[in-house]
Amino acid sequence: MSALSIDLLEKLEEFVGRDEKLLKKELEGSTASSLLSGSLSMALCYIQRVFRSGPLHPHPRILCLHGSQDGPEQYVAIMNAIFSAQRSMVPIDSCFIGAQNSAFLQQASYITGGVYLKPQLLEGTFQYLSTVFATDLHSRGFLQLPKSVGVDFRASCFCHKKTIDMGYICSVCLSIFCKHHKKCSTCGSVFGQAQSEAASEPSKKRKTGDA
Ligand SMILES: [Zn+2]
Ligand SMILES: [Zn+2]
Repeated sequence: MSALSIDLLEKLEEFVGRDEKLLKKELEGSTASSLLSGSLSMALCYIQRVFRSGPLHPHPRILCLHGSQDGPEQYVAIMNAIFSAQRSMVPIDSCFIGAQNSAFLQQASYITGGVYLKPQLLEGTFQYLSTVFATDLHSRGFLQLPKSVGVDFRASCFCHKKTIDMGYICSVCLSIFCKHHKKCSTCGSVFGQAQSEAASEPSKKRKTGDA
């Protein structure tokens, strides 16, 4: 018994050591991005609690005031939060104050029927917040909101968490991959033979696996 527990402790120690090393590597290699998926999930949990607390049904909205760039490694969690918000009919408004547009927030606002806005002048941020975002959903219909610049629909691959323009999609679970794999790493489906890269036309590159 004691030999077993010593063995277990040794294994645990080894695991903790390896985990620390991996975490260090990850921190060095990645750029800083805020935990958008976590905050969206928390907001949705809070809204669900309010929904279930009584017969009164408020019309909640989520406003994301975001400055840092997108973290592609959060793609799946963020998309899940967006679809959850869509199901609960909770619009996600986004006020982006960073340098480049945020593809995640553009998609979040587009899918949930919220407003995405990147203020041209940061000095006018309060004006945008009070006129665009503070107005209720009904009044918004009468407002002439700033025109959107379009939506960046690009996704991140599940294998390397990189933003990609074209990729492969599992026809069973809709997982996205940047390269052809023999098997889906998410659901385990075995894919058919891929055509050779040279033979396939670029338009056919979006291949799906066999169910
Ligand atoms: Zn990949
Ligand atoms: Zn799959």
